Amino acid sequence: MVTMAAAMSRLGTESAFQVLARAKALEAAGHSIINLGIGQPDFRTPAHIVEAACKALRDGHHGYTPANGIPELRAAIAADLHRRHGANVDPGNVVVMPGGKVTMFFACLMFGEPGAEILYPDPGFPIYASAINFSGAKGVPIPLREEDGFAFRAEEVLSRITPKSRLLIINSPANPTGGVSSKAEVDKLVAGLEKHPQVAVMSDEIYGEMLYDGREHVSLLNYPSLRDRLILLDGFSKTYAMTGWRLGYAVWPKDLVEPVTRLAINDHSCVNAAAQWAGIAALQGPRNEVESMVAAFAERRRVVIDELNALPGVRCVEPGGAFYAFPNVSRLGLPAKRIETGLLEEAGVATIAGTSFGAQGEGFIRISYANSVENIRAAMVRIRGWLDSQPKAAARG
Ligand code: PLP
Repeated sequence: MVTMAAAMSRLGTESAFQVLARAKALEAAGHSIINLGIGQPDFRTPAHIVEAACKALRDGHHGYTPANGIPELRAAIAADLHRRHGANVDPGNVVVMPGGKVTMFFACLMFGEPGAEILYPDPGFPIYASAINFSGAKGVPIPLREEDGFAFRAEEVLSRITPKSRLLIINSPANPTGGVSSKAEVDKLVAGLEKHPQVAVMSDEIYGEMLYDGREHVSLLNYPSLRDRLILLDGFSKTYAMTGWRLGYAVWPKDLVEPVTRLAINDHSCVNAAAQWAGIAALQGPRNEVESMVAAFAERRRVVIDELNALPGVRCVEPGGAFYAFPNVSRLGLPAKRIETGLLEEAGVATIAGTSFGAQGEGFIRISYANSVENIRAAMVRIRGWLDSQPKAAARG
């Protein structure tokens, strides 16, 4: 009998991948499944990006690259951040990663250890809590509430900081809720953080180009007082429909570039060379396909919100960004996990229980609207049928 390290029992998971595997198995067995579970664009990567990767391979880019990424890509990322946020970024502070996730794992390993505390959003992307627990640090959840549109309250974040706090993780636009932080709350948070110079901040802005109804993205890059302790996480998976390419990056404070590059060398040496050349094409090429994808998400969002709010016992606040809705299903009187299972197994609709994103997610499910309007409407018909087939809960009106 082998003996694993105790830390393995503390490592969580992202249940969206388990739901995806089950949905695929049901499909293989002949069932019709509409997938509103996994968070990935249903579009193909734009052709000019694919072509750039093919060209890189034809041109002989077959070897290792610098561990922090090829200089051409790091320069293109810095230029793109300037275009989007008006912020000056030294390409030397950019570290390219195999996806957005690796940055959060490394940040938690870098700051987390027994005795340390790391603050993270709840509900939030499940890998934050998983990586924090794995590191041995104590995770301190920041509750996000439906009545606030799932945006943080600066005072509540600041009140949870202690002398043991090492890292604060924030995420806007957010997974799983679509919540967007307001500039006023970010201003308050950053001002308050001046009293806590020992706390590093990881801002996960991977959905930063997906905002709706005229909302504007507030990037933490634009707060000079934070720059010497800010890890700005971003990537290509969502914006450019490149989830399977495994390409992301972060801007790190100067002093942390060497340690994170050392983690990268230990972990993966460097990111796939052809994917890095594709990343340059993504950033420097035409933007019309990105714009049409965002326009499509905006249309689907409207349909999802209207349809969800028309379901009995369900209400859904307007998500400001990303491609998720987080409807409140507490009036159904069933645990979120039971609703997830029922919808998948009995109605053929994949969704994710809110509890997969933290304790505050009970009473909610996550709907990813990265699917066609036609499929979303068909899914809502199935969900309504399933709801009608349930014994009426006492609380449901
Ligand atoms: N951050 C958030 C908030 C996400 O939702 C995701 C993916 O779902 C990621 C980071 C990771 O993206 P990647 O697939 O590039 O690792």
